[in-house]
Amino acid sequence: MLGGTTEATQLATALAKTGYDALFSYAGRTNRPVAQPLPTRVGGFGGADGLAGFLKDDGITHVIDATHPFAAQMSTNAITACGNTEIPLVAFERPPWQAELGDNWLSVSDITAASLELPDHPARVFLAIGKQHIDAFAARPEHFYLLRLVDTPTQALPLPNAHAVIARGPFDEAGDLALLQEHNINIIVAKNAGGQGAAAKLAAARALGLKVIMIDRPHIPARRVLGTVGDVMTWLDHSADLGV
Ligand code: NAP
Repeated sequence: MLGGTTEATQLATALAKTGYDALFSYAGRTNRPVAQPLPTRVGGFGGADGLAGFLKDDGITHVIDATHPFAAQMSTNAITACGNTEIPLVAFERPPWQAELGDNWLSVSDITAASLELPDHPARVFLAIGKQHIDAFAARPEHFYLLRLVDTPTQALPLPNAHAVIARGPFDEAGDLALLQEHNINIIVAKNAGGQGAAAKLAAARALGLKVIMIDRPHIPARRVLGTVGDVMTWLDHSADLGV
């Protein structure tokens, strides 16, 4: 199981209650990963070929890709590796968020496009995209950026006027409302991750009438996608019954 999301942890909890011999894989992006109720490994595999070799060497019979919807490289590698080794693969993926009445969203295709959509005058931006790719906003140094990171940064941030809050989700609306007000935020930049853990900022933005620059999900090649823990467990049970 390829993890790294709140939903992956929920699935790991369900898997741990079964007799399946499951292994949880983290990329190793954070210094303090959430402990899992499954045997856990950390680190990349060395591309699709490395993953294929790992799957064969470890006698893996099924792969569940429960990575973040923006982890497109890992998901694409899983498709390639499982295709080449003929190992069944399923993606456990939450649906994208949809704008609701009262939302003021601007959808953009990627992070660079999001940076270009910031206003010309100095704004106070909640840059809710994690620590990767914040460099893209170094070209817009006129803005104040509020970051929310899992780990305390060990190097200077590439943004001259930024403040980092160290926190791990899930977050709630009252907390996010207070955070946005405390820092006088007027624009949010977010990835369309979907799920509950990071949705509070969108409800808070709606309550405050703030604009959200919403980055669309990256393209991932076609694969089987399931949306609930129950569906993934049924898929596993069914595959096991059929001996595939
Ligand atoms: P990515 O760009 O798709 O992956 C880059 C490389 O990191 C992969 O090619 C792979 O290295 C390694 N990798 C990624 N996920 C892995 C996993 N679960 N186990 C082992 N190796 C993994 O992914 P990313 O966007 O950097 O995200 C890294 C991890 O953080 C993912 O597990 C994801 O679920 C989690 N995450 C990402 C985001 C986000 O916004 N991107 C947000 C929250 C959590 P090799 O090619 O060497 O195998």
